[in-house]
Amino acid sequence: MRTAAKDQLLMAASLLERTRVGLAFTGAGVSVESGIPHFRGNGGLWTKFDPYKVAHIETFRKNPAEYWTYSLNHRRSDAEPNPAHRALVELERRGLLRAVVTQNTDGLHQKAGSGRVIELHGSSHSVVCLDCEAKFPRDEIDRLNRQHCPPSCPACGGRFLKPTVVLFGEALPEAQLRSAQSLAMAAGVVLVVGSSLQVYPAAGIPRLAREHGADIIIVNAEPTPFDEMAAVVIHGKAGEVLPEIVSRIEADYGASATGNV
Ligand code: NAD
Ligand code: ZN
Repeated sequence: MRTAAKDQLLMAASLLERTRVGLAFTGAGVSVESGIPHFRGNGGLWTKFDPYKVAHIETFRKNPAEYWTYSLNHRRSDAEPNPAHRALVELERRGLLRAVVTQNTDGLHQKAGSGRVIELHGSSHSVVCLDCEAKFPRDEIDRLNRQHCPPSCPACGGRFLKPTVVLFGEALPEAQLRSAQSLAMAAGVVLVVGSSLQVYPAAGIPRLAREHGADIIIVNAEPTPFDEMAAVVIHGKAGEVLPEIVSRIEADYGASATGNV
């Protein structure tokens, strides 16, 4: 690793150790090494698909088949957490992170073992009928989708089955947004991982934390519009950089120490 990057790693570790009121804010980039593609930037899905066709609430309401055909070909239901997700679990276990606020809908933070996860954009693991509001596990509807695309509601026969994710044009869940905002205002440091920081209101969370005095650490493959306001910026793969930060902390405090050292 280059010296500059090494210095940044040391700074990131020391900010997390010192502050002890840490918050992680994650985006699609944290799951790329689990095989789930991100949206914006090099190789992102939106360089191949029009988001307004497959992920906007208005087009979804007009033609749910478009979404379900896309889902048939692109959804990864067998993805596993990667070393970046596990590093965040370790930081929480050490008492250095209070929560993970995520824009992701893939459930991989929970699968890795993170205790407090705030999903700002909902979850892709369930589906809701827009007619009768019944909810179903995603696997069940994926099965129906493979038999007949688009699937209809098993309860009422309705045509509008929507994954419980926030599509473009929809509001964020209020309770989750409020929790994320209070965590941001109380945070001493925010560790941003794998987000282009271009999607609002979600990107307002690290910004709010900064306005309330938090230091920002950014780990991302590409530059972001927040790089200039960050105390530490590391351009690299989340699955490589986060374990390095944890190793640094382990070197300072010992492999099995908890946050109360
Ligand atoms: P984004 O696609 O806008 O940005 C992802 C960023 O991650 C990019 O800047 C990219 O350079 C970076 N990146 C790619 N691979 C990386 C890696 N291995 N390590 C570190 N960084 C890497 O994603 P966003 O900021 O989360 O916002 C977009 C929206 O995408 C959100 O609304 C989210 O709900 C949705 N989304 C979620 C998933 C998921 O659940 N896994 C996947 C795609 C998109
Ligand atoms: Zn229904």
